Amino acid sequence: MKAIVVQPGEHDSIHMRDVPDPALRPDQVRVRVIRAGLCGTDGEINQGQFGKAPEGSSYLILGHENFGVVEEVGKKVRGWKRGDFAVSTVRRPCGICRNCKHGDQDFCTSGQYTERGIVKRHGYMSQYYVEEPQYMIKIPPSVQKIGVLLEPLSIVEKGIDQAFRIQQRMQWKPKTAVILGAGPVGLLAAAVLAVRGLRTIVAGREPESDVRAQLAKQLHAEYISVEKTPLNELTKQMGPLDFIIEATGSSTVVFAAMQMLPPAGILCLLSVTGGYKTQPVPTDQINQDLVLRNNVVFGSVSAHARHFQLGAKDFVKIERHCPGALEKMITHRLPWEQHRQWFNERGVGIKTTLEISS
Ligand code: BGC
Repeated sequence: MKAIVVQPGEHDSIHMRDVPDPALRPDQVRVRVIRAGLCGTDGEINQGQFGKAPEGSSYLILGHENFGVVEEVGKKVRGWKRGDFAVSTVRRPCGICRNCKHGDQDFCTSGQYTERGIVKRHGYMSQYYVEEPQYMIKIPPSVQKIGVLLEPLSIVEKGIDQAFRIQQRMQWKPKTAVILGAGPVGLLAAAVLAVRGLRTIVAGREPESDVRAQLAKQLHAEYISVEKTPLNELTKQMGPLDFIIEATGSSTVVFAAMQMLPPAGILCLLSVTGGYKTQPVPTDQINQDLVLRNNVVFGSVSAHARHFQLGAKDFVKIERHCPGALEKMITHRLPWEQHRQWFNERGVGIKTTLEISS
């Protein structure tokens, strides 16, 4: 079969090639991939900054944002049938640490986890893949058009879930949430928080006329352009920002966000910032504020299968709340043979997908 592969560690090695068809075990399902989503991680892997090939392989099949349809079901599998739509999760357990043994590989402590399309396990940019049902999520046909957004949505669901769990340390009834960054993660976070009834504000770099701003509004969130309102003015204009989600990909914004928290407020960090930036930060002031305000700042990566399930349910709710809005996040659909276009011109549009089969 055909697949899109990279040589991890090498700069710009991405290409399409023939790879062996995956063999189906009786406890697995074979999925035909319909489309794969592209994200910053894929870009970093192709730049050679991130990612590892599976043991014994010279290449890595790329792709972790996925959507496909079941083609064949192994004899021992129950609950799946040909024609079901599926999204598979990304991280697999290390088999060593307590969390992985408990099914919480998103909290792996050994660092020996693998991730499909990222670390030591082939991904989903291929015509077919095989998977065990425990790592697969069924997608209702009514939301199949946005199924490919489930993996980034799972990252958001985990961040929000963690924030609410952490805040059980007191009586917490957040009224206002602000999301820094209007990329796919930021907009998905806005969709989830708005559908839960929070006053939701997206703060982005883009002007109010930008498609991202319009989309935020369609998702029933407010949009503020930091071109006109600098971040530190936001709290003055908006009142207490009980819950902040950082999704800009800029570590400078991370430290600015710490200074925006109200008493008992919480800041969830979702963006992986590659690079080695060092810059002066008012550490005494930040520390004093964090302590005197009982603030929490936490990072969150990957997601549990439960967060994918939650995301699939939220898709249905969001579609009811603002029909068609999420699909507009997919601004570019490339036939997968043209994958180079995205890697050459990164940063165009909101979400680009590679169309692998129909
Ligand atoms: C993926 C996560 C993954 C992380 C680190 C992100 O782009 O969405 O599933 O855990 O990269 O590899």
